[in-house]
Amino acid sequence: MGTRTRVELGRREDLGADCANCFGLCCVALAFTTSADFPFDKPAGEPCPNLDDHDGCRVHAQLRPHGFKGCTVFDCFGAGQKTSRHTFAGRSWRDDNQIRTAMFAAFPIIRRLHELLWYLDQASALVEAADRDATPWLQRFERVRELSDLPGERLLDLDVDAEYDAARPLLIQASEIARRGEIARQGVRSDRSRRRTRTLGPQSDLMGARLTRADLQGICLRGSTLIAADLSGARLAHCDLLGVDLRDADLSGADLEDAIYLTQMQVNSARGDAATRLPPGFQRPPHWV
Ligand code: SF4
Repeated sequence: MGTRTRVELGRREDLGADCANCFGLCCVALAFTTSADFPFDKPAGEPCPNLDDHDGCRVHAQLRPHGFKGCTVFDCFGAGQKTSRHTFAGRSWRDDNQIRTAMFAAFPIIRRLHELLWYLDQASALVEAADRDATPWLQRFERVRELSDLPGERLLDLDVDAEYDAARPLLIQASEIARRGEIARQGVRSDRSRRRTRTLGPQSDLMGARLTRADLQGICLRGSTLIAADLSGARLAHCDLLGVDLRDADLSGADLEDAIYLTQMQVNSARGDAATRLPPGFQRPPHWV
């Protein structure tokens, strides 16, 4: 739950949830199914029975004990307040049946655009940190930002997949620039460190792997599965975590401060402790206590 009140999208600080300025969209517009994350099925467009009349959650303080683990993991990347306050100018789905369908359709589109903005924002920061010209990254950010500002009816015609396809080479290039810099900073790693990580790469299946105190700095794990992996004490500076599944991974004492393309949702889905180092602006999930 965020405390930010700005609605106009600037940079990273506007790409996190601001529930106080949202009409509970994730609790209405999205579907969920009975699983380890939710205790019952709910179709898209139906309000969750726990949503109160003021768009608050009646079981907010007890989501996990009530079986709503998925709610503690989800992050809208700021799409909730954007859809509520900007796209639909403060009109709620409760007040206006006419906009209800359009609003529920626009919300997931804006969320995907905001997620892409999150990645592009970090990519341009990585390129700038390497003293390279970040113009192509900033231009792509601006294009996606402008798309996220479109009126609801025009959003529905967007090809969001095409926007991701256009951005992907830039994300990969920025990651390579940052990881090359990290490897150069480290110099030659110890033999033991190399042995442990030499087989790791994109799309690795590392479910339940023991990577305790592993040196993962400068490694690309893009698209890998690290469900329930032990990453306690691991070092992940400039480790590319784009799309990595960190559900129930143990991040206790791990250093993720400079991890690449890490999201709040990945952090929320993992386990950690007070010693886990997170990037600036990230929130330590309450269930880590
Ligand atoms: S349990 Fe609470 S947070 Fe989760 S969908 Fe329902 S109202 Fe929203």
